[in-house]
Amino acid sequence: MARLEVRLLGDPVLRRKAEPVSEVTDELRALIDDMLETMYAEDGVGLAGPQVGRGIRVIVVDPHEEGSRALTLVNPQILAASEDVSRREEGCLSVPGLSEVVERWSTVVVEALDRDGRPVRIEADGLLARILQHEIDHLDGILFIDRVSPLKRKMLLSKWQKIKPAEAKG
Ligand code: ZN
Repeated sequence: MARLEVRLLGDPVLRRKAEPVSEVTDELRALIDDMLETMYAEDGVGLAGPQVGRGIRVIVVDPHEEGSRALTLVNPQILAASEDVSRREEGCLSVPGLSEVVERWSTVVVEALDRDGRPVRIEADGLLARILQHEIDHLDGILFIDRVSPLKRKMLLSKWQKIKPAEAKG
């Protein structure tokens, strides 16, 4: 297992639409293990392929809640969502230091493959529903700063210019 470099806002890989995974292989499972290690090391609750420089549709999540466990989802798709929404502060390992209240669907139904390539269906609410939407957005090149008002986005980006780590591009 190895810790991977988390790509930061400004890295073009975060803005590209990730490709579907055609087959769950041992190589992919090794990447998934590295993503899990990286997520825990960074104290995150989720990580998506593009965040570690891989343009493929794979995410790992762990809400760190009582009774929760790590989930690995390959080719995740949101099949259904509630009409009601929830607002809660969100951050992102790719945009460290920034957070903002983001509106998300309260519950979602997600279909995916697990780390063994078996189909899974998850009905999620609360924090897990939020993390799933955040991570699946990453697979489409969308960051949480794109989900706030234009004014708030502008403020976040100007703060980023001041606080971004030296290795951040752009
Ligand atoms: Zn993120």
